[in-house]
Amino acid sequence: MDLDQTIYYTGENHDYWLGSISPPIYQTSNFVFDSVEEFKEKIKDEKANYLYTRGNNPTVEVLRRKLAELEGMEDALIFSSGAAAMNAAIASQISRGGHILCVNQVYTWTKRFLTEWLPKFGIEVSFANGADTDLFLSHAKSNTQCIVLESPNSLIFELQDLEAITSFARKKGIITILDNSYATPLYQKSSQYGIDIAVHSATKYINGHGDVLGGVICSRESIIRKIFQMEYMMYGAICHPHEASLMLRGLRTLPLRLDRSNQSALYIAQILETHPKIQKVIHPLLSTHPQHDLALRQMKGCGGLFSIVLNTEDPNKCISFSNALRRFKIAASWGSYESLQMPMVAFEDYSGKSPSVPSNLVRLYIGLENPDLLLEDLLKGLEMV
Ligand SMILES: *Cc1c(COP(=O)(O)O)cnc(C)c1O
Repeated sequence: MDLDQTIYYTGENHDYWLGSISPPIYQTSNFVFDSVEEFKEKIKDEKANYLYTRGNNPTVEVLRRKLAELEGMEDALIFSSGAAAMNAAIASQISRGGHILCVNQVYTWTKRFLTEWLPKFGIEVSFANGADTDLFLSHAKSNTQCIVLESPNSLIFELQDLEAITSFARKKGIITILDNSYATPLYQKSSQYGIDIAVHSATKYINGHGDVLGGVICSRESIIRKIFQMEYMMYGAICHPHEASLMLRGLRTLPLRLDRSNQSALYIAQILETHPKIQKVIHPLLSTHPQHDLALRQMKGCGGLFSIVLNTEDPNKCISFSNALRRFKIAASWGSYESLQMPMVAFEDYSGKSPSVPSNLVRLYIGLENPDLLLEDLLKGLEMV
C-alpha cells in the first residue's frame, strides 16, 4: 500500500483551493445555485454533489476519500462519533424479524444498542465467543442478516479469524461489520479479509490528539449510498467541516504515532510480563497470548493498548497502584498522544460491568512519551501492590 499517496495526496485539490496546501475548512451549511437547471442537476445525487453540509461537504469529503482508500474500500462516511458510525452501520443492515450475531465483549455502546434498543423492533441478537470460530458460527441462523465483529476487542484483546468468518458469511449472504478501531487500517486492512463494512472510532488513533470525537464507516459504493440516504442524512450525526480539518491534520501523522505507540507498548509489555507483581499481561503480540499466531497472521502491529492483571485480589491495592501512577491519567479512552490507564476496580459497582473482566485488570494505553519514563512510573506504582 502506498501510504504516502493516500495520506498526503488523495482527495487534495490545490488548484481548486487557490494553491492552499492545507484543505480549506468549508464552514458553510448551504451551497447555492444560480439557476433552477443547476439545482435540478445537483439534487440528483446529494452524496456526490455539494448541497447541504448534513450531506456532503468538501472538507469532509477529503477525509472520506482518504479513509476509504486506507481500508481498500470504495467510499466512506464520517460521523460525529464512533458510536454513531457503528450503530448506523448495524441499523442499515437489519430488518424486522432479522437476527444479528455478535462477538462477546464488544464495545459497551455497541452492546447496549444490540441488547437494549434493537429488540424493541423485533430484532434478535446472539452473542458468542468469537475466538472459537466454529462455535461462533454455529450461532448463525437462517434469518441472520449481519455479523458484528471487533478484533481485537479493547479490554481483553480477543481476536476473531476474520477470513474464516467472512468466507462463511459470504456464502450465506450475511453482511460482516468490523469495529477496526484498535488496529486501524494500517495494521489490519479490512478489505484484505473480505469485511463488508469497516467501522472506526476516529476519536482514537485517526484523530489522535484528544480533541475531537469522530466515527467512520468504510464500505462499497452500494452500501455507503444506502447508509447515506438513510441513517446518515436522517439522524444527522455527521462530521462538521472544522472537525474534519482537525482529523485530516491528525491523519497526516497516523503512521508515525501508531508505530511509536506500538513499539513502546511492546517494549513495556515484555518487561512487565516477568514482573512478580503482575499475574498476566494481555497483549496479542506476546507469545503468551492464546491467539498469538492469529495475531501475527492478521495484524501488522497492535498500537499502544494492552492490559495487565495485577497479582492481588485486594481492591485497595489495585486502587493504590492506579493512584500512584503519575504519567498515566485515569480515563476511559485511548489513541491520543498521552498515556492513560483504565482501572477496572473503578467499575466494581457499575451496572454495565462484564463479569468476565476481573477487577484487578488495568488497561494501559501507551502514548508518545519516552517509554523508559513510562516504565519507571509503572514499576514505582507496582511497589504499592
Ligand atoms: C471508543 C470506541 C468506540 C466508540 O467511539 P466514540 O468515538 O467514543 O463514539 C467504538 N468502538 C471502540 C472499540 C472504541 O474503543
